[in-house]
Amino acid sequence: MALVTCHISYTKLAYDAPNCPKCGTLGPKLRKTKKLILYLRLFGFVVIVALLGYIWFVLIPKIKLHGLFNKGGQIQQVSIKLLSV
Ligand SMILES: [Zn+2]
Repeated sequence: MALVTCHISYTKLAYDAPNCPKCGTLGPKLRKTKKLILYLRLFGFVVIVALLGYIWFVLIPKIKLHGLFNKGGQIQQVSIKLLSV
């Protein structure tokens, strides 16, 4: 089992120990997992913000411009282009 040094009390502890025996801070493995969860949450948050941004700045103006069911929208323009070729 690999030994690592606590980043707060500099005590040697096992890599997969849940927390440091001296200062009680989280063990390195658990800290890594928590960090990963934090990054995943952050990533999820960014994805949600991006999605909301897309809906707000792209989808809603498009709907306002062409209506909900794409009256005169892109699909019809493409079909017109295909017919004229
Ligand atoms: Zn410690």
